[in-house]
Amino acid sequence: MRQLNDERVLFAFSREAEPALTVKSGETVRIRTQDCFGNQVRSSDDVLDEIDWDRINPATGPVYVEGAIPGGALKVTIEGIELDAQTASCTGKDEGVCGDRFEAWSTRLCAVDAEKGVLSWSDELSIPLKPMIGVIGVAPAGEPVNCGTPGSHGGNMDATVVTTGATLYFPVATEGALFGCGDMHAAMGDGEVSVSGAEVAGWATVTLTALPDLHLVDPVIENETHMGVIASAESLDAAADRAVHEMVDLLHDRTGVAVDELVMVLSLVADVQVCQMVDPQKTVRFMVPKYVLGALGFAL
Ligand code: CA
Ligand code: ZN
Repeated sequence: MRQLNDERVLFAFSREAEPALTVKSGETVRIRTQDCFGNQVRSSDDVLDEIDWDRINPATGPVYVEGAIPGGALKVTIEGIELDAQTASCTGKDEGVCGDRFEAWSTRLCAVDAEKGVLSWSDELSIPLKPMIGVIGVAPAGEPVNCGTPGSHGGNMDATVVTTGATLYFPVATEGALFGCGDMHAAMGDGEVSVSGAEVAGWATVTLTALPDLHLVDPVIENETHMGVIASAESLDAAADRAVHEMVDLLHDRTGVAVDELVMVLSLVADVQVCQMVDPQKTVRFMVPKYVLGALGFAL
């Protein structure tokens, strides 16, 4: 298996970035990722007022995938997530949903107990591990997008469904796609209300496959039971509208089923779910059960 260390990181997804690694389509890579603070919060003495904010949200990469072309897609299957032993969480003034209540940063370090599958918040509270990748994506079509902002290229989507066993499909804007990932969380609730998950460094193992004939507008995610569109916009409302419309378009284009019928059936079975509501763009996913897609004759 190919391996990529975290010596080369991106702070923005960009068509101009020099590849850190080139892989063949279909290759699996184990990628070392820093936490969203660039590994700068290590002890309870490390205060967020003093960290280098130019070094946050690093994504390791980019990885050039042979055969990925503009107008096509990159398929990314998450084969595994390995977490380091300690996480850092934070909130602060004007950050997250409750930032109006704070005057300063707060941070909390937690130990990961991989054997028990929990994060130790306190002696009384152990939180089940729910590993996920917060920042994952490809180079965007236009100007570079900093790794703290989500969009059609992926980026800081902070979606709890981006976990082991899931497959993402990204619209490709440049030769090689220029894939990167980072910002893993040991646990996070939908919404990410404080502005952070249990931020942790680790290893992500992904299989990268070029799909030159698949045209997408926004990222699509698939897991064992569901397939959905992940959309980002200025508000949760706008992001939800975008995800629903796009799923309807995908289904209509590929099945020919009338839009009114599609919308009625989706209303019975599909879920609008919040990814995050705290980043510069908000992110929502619209998840459709696969048994419904099968019955409609849908395939990507
Ligand atoms: Ca994040
Ligand atoms: Zn994060």
